[in-house]
Amino acid sequence: MRKALLSLALLSTLLTAQTLAQKTGGERALRAKARTLAQQFIIVDTHVDVPYRMRMKWEDISGRTADGNFDYVRAKEGGLNAPFMSIYIPAEYEKRGGAKALADTLIDMVERFERTWPETFAIARSPADVTRQFKKGLISLCMGMENGSPIERDLKNVQHFYDRGIRYITLTHALDNHISDSSYDTTRVSRGLSFFGRSVVAEMNRVGIMVDVSHVSDAAFYEVMNVSKAPVIASHSSCRSFTPGFERNMSDDMIKLLAARGGAIMINFGSSFLTAEYRNREDEGQKEVMAYLKARNLNFSDPEAQAYIEQYRKDHPITMADVSDVANHIDHVVKLVGIDHVGLGSDFDGVGDSLPTGLKDVSHYPNLIFELLKRGYSESDIRKVCGDNLLRVWSTIEQRARELRSQSAHE
Ligand SMILES: [Zn+2]
Repeated sequence: MRKALLSLALLSTLLTAQTLAQKTGGERALRAKARTLAQQFIIVDTHVDVPYRMRMKWEDISGRTADGNFDYVRAKEGGLNAPFMSIYIPAEYEKRGGAKALADTLIDMVERFERTWPETFAIARSPADVTRQFKKGLISLCMGMENGSPIERDLKNVQHFYDRGIRYITLTHALDNHISDSSYDTTRVSRGLSFFGRSVVAEMNRVGIMVDVSHVSDAAFYEVMNVSKAPVIASHSSCRSFTPGFERNMSDDMIKLLAARGGAIMINFGSSFLTAEYRNREDEGQKEVMAYLKARNLNFSDPEAQAYIEQYRKDHPITMADVSDVANHIDHVVKLVGIDHVGLGSDFDGVGDSLPTGLKDVSHYPNLIFELLKRGYSESDIRKVCGDNLLRVWSTIEQRARELRSQSAHE
């Protein structure tokens, strides 16, 4: 009897070990599959802040770089094929002037990437370019302009930026501008879009530039949806349902409307876009730091302030979001509107050290694909999330622009 019990115990231990081995074996196989799919599918990421990073410090991004979230080697590892280089114009340029000049300088820089490393990078101006260059093993650099300030009150500049390769424009950034109100601002000068902003949207529809509603206020979003004759995108926003009260993310109602009009939301990877816990802790920290600096009459950039902030961060670590949180946001959109309206807009090189565990740089897309496989997403669903959804929306916008131009030619 005793012997029998012993062997029963042994058997159950062996069985547990076996299921564990099966499980890890299964997980290993799924991870391998995720890596294969990442190489097979076209991965489009609609928001990568490389130009601004390179403006601060030029690096050889055709090799592995020590800093930053993006370089050619890691992009290849992760299967990234078409990152949108963000032509980012800080909000203060609206008043200061020089927004258009800065945008042109940053576009020049992306052209310089292509000239300097022609074996690795090529600018893409259409979904067809992306597909063709994917087959050649080149990484397509698409361009999106973050902030409409460079339009500088002249509608002709929409065509100018199209001609220079810009394929989406985020109507505003952290402050209201002459086109649209910002979700981060409090003044709300236009209560949505300005009169000029409405004609900017119409002109973008006509030339074939995607209208990007990330950063705009809710009122501006709804106005865009009324005015736009083509689908629109949110290039780097997540779901507000996880971060109540955070207007920079999209509410369920907005996601439904965006999808009903054929557009797509591209999920931002920054932890503060993904979980309320991270957001709240970060807000608390910010308040404390600002109070400290104010009491001592310090500027943010003063060495004493920087030392304090660094120490504060060490003393108050915040739990980062995880790659599974990004999958939760994708799940949320899929449950709301189906698989055809969601994609990736990481904000790599733009959200500092707040990236989720498992998604720290462009080599990590397979970790996200693994999460989706684990949740039962089919290969064709994953292909859509990785890039096909965005390429479809982009093609529709090109097609719509051709129709609008031929209509106006016949009028
Ligand atoms: Zn942004």
